Amino acid sequence: MTERVTKLCTTCGRFRSYHADDRFCIGCGYETLADRCECGRNFDYALDEAGSHDLHCPGCGRDWRGRSPNL
Ligand SMILES: [Zn+2]
Ligand SMILES: [Zn+2]
Repeated sequence: MTERVTKLCTTCGRFRSYHADDRFCIGCGYETLADRCECGRNFDYALDEAGSHDLHCPGCGRDWRGRSPNL
């Protein structure tokens, strides 16, 4: 049984559902996946909001979508 975790690639800014032990971004291939924000909030909220333009961490207000709009 594989746990599904929403992770963010801090290189390209993509949210995706990954396996808990996945380490490489599905989009850019860098090993820069984070499974939670710096404030400790996980990314469960992110997939539901993936289609929106503005996505902020509900815990600390960090803007995740500002960096790479084309990716
Ligand atoms: Zn990436
Ligand atoms: Zn946060």
